[in-house]
Formats: sequence, structure tokens, C-alpha cells
Amino acid sequence: MTLIETHKTGGDCLNYGCVPSKALIKSARLAHQMCHGDKYGLKAIVPEFSFSKVMERVHEVIRTVAPHDSVERYTKLGVEVLEGYACIKDPWTVEVKLHNGDIQRLTTRNIVIATGAQPIVPPLPGLDDVGYVTSDTLWDEFAKKDAPPSRLIILGGGPIGCELAQSFARLGSKVTQIEMASRIMIREDEEISEVVRSSLERDGVEVLIGHKALRCECEDENKFIVVEHDGVERRIEFDTLLCAVGRIARLTGYGLEELGIETKNTIVANEYLETLYPNIFAAGDVAGPYQFTHTASHQAWYAAVNALFGDLKKFKVDYSVIPWATFIEPEVARVGLNEQEARDKDVPYEVTRYEFDDLDRAITDSTTQGFVKVLTVPGKDRILGATIVGEHAGDLLAEFVLAMKHGLGLSKILGTIHIYPTLAEANKYVAGKWKKTHTPQRLLTWLFHYHAWKR
Ligand SMILES: Cc1cc2nc3c(=O)[nH]c(=O)nc-3n(C[C@H](O)[C@H](O)[C@H](O)COP(=O)(O)OP(=O)(O)OC[C@H]3O[C@@H](n4cnc5c(N)ncnc54)[C@H](O)[C@@H]3O)c2cc1C
Repeated sequence: MTLIETHKTGGDCLNYGCVPSKALIKSARLAHQMCHGDKYGLKAIVPEFSFSKVMERVHEVIRTVAPHDSVERYTKLGVEVLEGYACIKDPWTVEVKLHNGDIQRLTTRNIVIATGAQPIVPPLPGLDDVGYVTSDTLWDEFAKKDAPPSRLIILGGGPIGCELAQSFARLGSKVTQIEMASRIMIREDEEISEVVRSSLERDGVEVLIGHKALRCECEDENKFIVVEHDGVERRIEFDTLLCAVGRIARLTGYGLEELGIETKNTIVANEYLETLYPNIFAAGDVAGPYQFTHTASHQAWYAAVNALFGDLKKFKVDYSVIPWATFIEPEVARVGLNEQEARDKDVPYEVTRYEFDDLDRAITDSTTQGFVKVLTVPGKDRILGATIVGEHAGDLLAEFVLAMKHGLGLSKILGTIHIYPTLAEANKYVAGKWKKTHTPQRLLTWLFHYHAWKR
């Protein structure tokens, strides 16, 4: 087996995505907690810090995780790793332009395309003149700075834009986040967008929804972005502009066009992840429809197993239970349907909610903002989806992911012991709330009479 990587093993996740962003979020969060120490009976202090040290830690975290995805690790596992640019010449031949300039031709029975995605740079007039960073470049660019950008524009109100907006605001940047749509985090329910917006605003982010970026301008040494809202233009001065308007699959320059492999924003692949050629598979961001590390590795299993054993048995990729989280504060995590999707798909549902301000552990930790919201089949405890907002939402969601994957209903969660006092008890309490509204009334009446008789 040969793995070909043209840039850095570990891809986006390790080098430009999940790992550096979560490392930055942690530092920013600590800074925020220090500013609000008084909430815990401590003295609130504005932390003094060197931004370059914060960025140094981000890179140290990348270096610490790197061995998990390293050439050495894969080589030890028996994988031949070639560092170079791969191009598919025909369905059984891959040509690699190695970094040392040599060309190596490989013949193969199967090919898995996992070339990922790259940040979208919007075609804004003047953007190149003012300069910009993306998730690909910001980690190295900002590592050269002594201070966070003082006036930072973030284009985009999706999860990446929101995570970075909150972090930089907490580290002292004056952040303006620009989103063209009527709300941020648009895939989530409206109330979630609202929670996230007000939380970003509390951290000092100016969230401009319904604002269309029109152009960038330079005047002397000063940079401006012009946005439009309700027909009115506004000019905002900034120092640094970050494009976080989405990521697009890498589809060109390595043979798809020549081989006629169909693409529609992502590579078109069937339920076995086979492309037009049944021996060429696609997985990860390049295959879509999701752009997460855990869905990429989920698909990688299907692509690899179908490639190796497809003649004997093929497995259809299972997208039935896909969770994700956005690591802002409060964290937002979801699996399955939310209300807007259920409505769009005409799926009947019931909603049960449990608020964190009732949960003992959230109260002890003063982290009472948030809730668990579960959608179930009307009259049944079968879970259609769950959204959790609050501290450690991404971790708490795992119970619902397991339940949905294995067909366990809310009654099973209710019947499971959860450690007291933990945040995970919220899952049991939401199940309890569901039970309370679904208790058979005739049984209750009978029990009432039974106990009255016993007295
Ligand atoms: C800021 C940010 C935060 C994120 N946070 C999260 C998160 O918290 N959780 C989460 O699940 N996901 C997160 N993601 C998304 C996650 O990083 C991606 O979904 C994941 O990396 C996709 O993996 P992949 O293997 O498909 O592609 P990639 O990780 O992009 O890997 C593709 C690799 O292919 C190489 N390549 C491309 N073309 C060729 C070629 N012709 N020859 C050889 N090599 C080639 C590239 O150099 C690259 O290394 C985040 C992304 C960003 C940008």
C-alpha cells in the first residue's frame, strides 16, 4: 500500500484545521476565564501575554500530535509513504512527482482519492490589494506577530468563522464578523444561531448579519472593506482580513478531468464510494457531503475495505448517524435531525428540552447556559436527533450518537445510571422529561387508587 502526500501528512486537520484551532480556543478560553475570575470568587485579572507565545503553543500542539499522522508511523505500519504530487494517469497507473524532482510511476489495482478541500477565496474586488489570510495561512502568518491583529475582519459566519471570531476577540482583537445570510451557523436551528450570536457579542465581536461584502479598498496605508446592508453601504477599516466563507473540494490538476471522473462540487461517488471507475474510490472532504475529520475517517474505512475485499463483499457507506460540534462557548453539538431539517423533510417530531440551569453540576461550575433538545418520533421514544448547547456539548452528545446508532430510545437512557454530579446527567434528565409527558394516564389513575386503598 502506498500513501502519497504532496505537502504535510496529517492534512488540514493536523496542520490548519481541528488541531491548531482547538489549541487556540483553549488559550483564548483561559484568557477569558481569567478576565471573569470574579465569577468564581477570585480576582478578575486581564491576562498579560505574548501573542507569539500563544502561537508558539499552537505549533507545539501540532508537533505533539504530528507523530499520530507521521511518515514514520505509517512506514512502521507497513505503508510505503511517498512525498510528492500524485497524478492519476489511467485507472491503474499513478504518476508521482517526488519532491526530489524524480518521477515515479506506480501501477495499482485500486486508488483512493482523499485530496481534501481548500479555503474558498471570494472574488471580492480589491481583496488581493489589501491582502488576506485563510485557515491555510493564518497559523504561520500569525506566528510571526507579537500581538493579535488589532482590527480583524472575519468573512463568514459558519463554524470556522465563529470559532476564530470568539478566540481572537477573547485574545484582544476588535473582531468584526461579516455574514451575508440572515443569521450565523445557518445549518443549526434559529434559536442556536441566536445563542451563538449573543455569546459572540458578549465577547466583543461585532456580528454583522445580512451584510454583503462588496469590495476592499486601500487608502494610503489604510485598509477598508465595504459592506452593504438594506441598500446602505458601510466602510470598515481593518488591519487583517480572514476569509472563512467555506472550503471547496480539490478537484483539479491530478487527473480527474482527463479520466472524465464526474464532479459536482465534490467527486461524484456511489454508496460504495466508487467513482466512475469501480476501482477508484473517493473519501473525505473531496467526496463530501460532510467536511469533518471523523466523517473522512469513517469513509476511509469503507473505501479501503471495498477496495480490498469488494470482489467478495461490498459495504454501503452509512451516513445515518453523523455527529458534529462547533467549539465555541457555549459549545454546540448535534446528531441527526434538528427542527428546521425535520420541518423541511416533513418528518413529524416531538421536542423535549432540558435546561442546564436546573443541573446540579452546571450550577456548581457556574456553566448554566445551555440545554439538551431531543427530537423523537411522536408518541415513541425513538430519537430522531439531538442538539446540545453548553459546556462539553461535543462530549455529552456521544450518548445520543450511540443510542441512535444502535436503536436505543430515551427510556434506555433514562434506565442507565449516570454519575452524580456530572453534566452527562442532563441526558438522563431530558429522557426523564420525555417519560413524564408519556406516562400512561390510566396506569397513573390505577396507582393512585391502589395507594389510596393501601392507606
Ligand atoms: C479551521 C478549521 C477547523 C476545523 N475543525 C474541525 C473540527 O473541529 N472537527 C472536525 O471534524 N473537522 C474540522 N475541520 C475539518 C477537517 O480539517 C477536515 O474535514 C479534514 O481534514 C478532512 O480530511 P481529508 O483527509 O479529507 O482532507 P485533508 O485533511 O485536507 O487532506 C488532504 C491531503 O491531500 C493532499 N493532496 C491533495 N492533492 C494531492 C495530490 N495530487 N497528491 C498528493 N497529495 C495531495 C493535501 O496536501 C492534504 O494534505 C476543520 C477545518 C478547518 C479549516
